[in-house]
Amino acid sequence: MIEIKEVTKSFGALPVLKGISLTIEKGELLCLIGASGSGKSTLLQCINGLESIQGGEIWVDGTSVHNRKTNINVLRRKLGIVFQQYNAFPHLTALQNVALAPRIVAKRSRKEAEIIARKHLAHVGLGDKENVLPSSLSGGQQQRLAIARALAMEPKYMLFDEVTSALDPELVGEVLETMRLLKSEGMTMVVVTHDINFVRESADRVAFLSGGEVCEIGTPQQVLENPRHELTQKFLRRERRPESPTPLTPFPVVRVV
Ligand code: ADP
Ligand code: MG
Repeated sequence: MIEIKEVTKSFGALPVLKGISLTIEKGELLCLIGASGSGKSTLLQCINGLESIQGGEIWVDGTSVHNRKTNINVLRRKLGIVFQQYNAFPHLTALQNVALAPRIVAKRSRKEAEIIARKHLAHVGLGDKENVLPSSLSGGQQQRLAIARALAMEPKYMLFDEVTSALDPELVGEVLETMRLLKSEGMTMVVVTHDINFVRESADRVAFLSGGEVCEIGTPQQVLENPRHELTQKFLRRERRPESPTPLTPFPVVRVV
């Protein structure tokens, strides 16, 4: 389980996390929602030790993430993370991408790493794409590849940071479906998302962050249907506007003059 206790963090003079306390139980899917800049990504990065903290403590299975005596590289293998932007190596095939960490980090032989990689590619529905370069995959397939890469280290926890935000709307479903599959298999997950429908249908609990604090936390039923805090109500009204969230353009639009 992941325990976050009174965590504070600033970037220079800017306080970003102002005393966050949260517990994520084994097998739980916790969603983090909140406006841009509320500290969601920073919190994920603190959980896996990519960012330092100034106060409080985070424990993963009882090990303190930010304790100097903790071997962060060992701990980090327990925590798979997937980001909004696809981060596959463009010159490596799908199989090579997934096999990379098992080979380099877990020191498996090429053959062993490929067996692991095949298993996880099949798991996310990319079993027929092993020899394909990432550029030949759709955005949704690339995100599933990113999930397979994280799974290849056999993590106990998966952290997702707006993994569908850069996708064309028609590609969102397949990625959410993959996440639901992991949840059904018992994976413990922290999911930052703007997809309120996903929160409603899939989360065990949802935390609404505002200005670096947990403003409200509870079941989707409690937080989405009966928000107690005015800031939560305001946020949800905005998120639920039919034109929002605006689908982002997946690639920069090049203007031809
Ligand atoms: P969210 O993911 O909820 O949009 P973030 O955690 O990315 O929020 O950011 C929270 C605040 O911290 C924002 O004001 C952002 O500008 C600031 N911030 C995030 N990362 C950095 C950084 N590396 N250096 C300085 N400021 C940062
Ligand atoms: Mg973010």
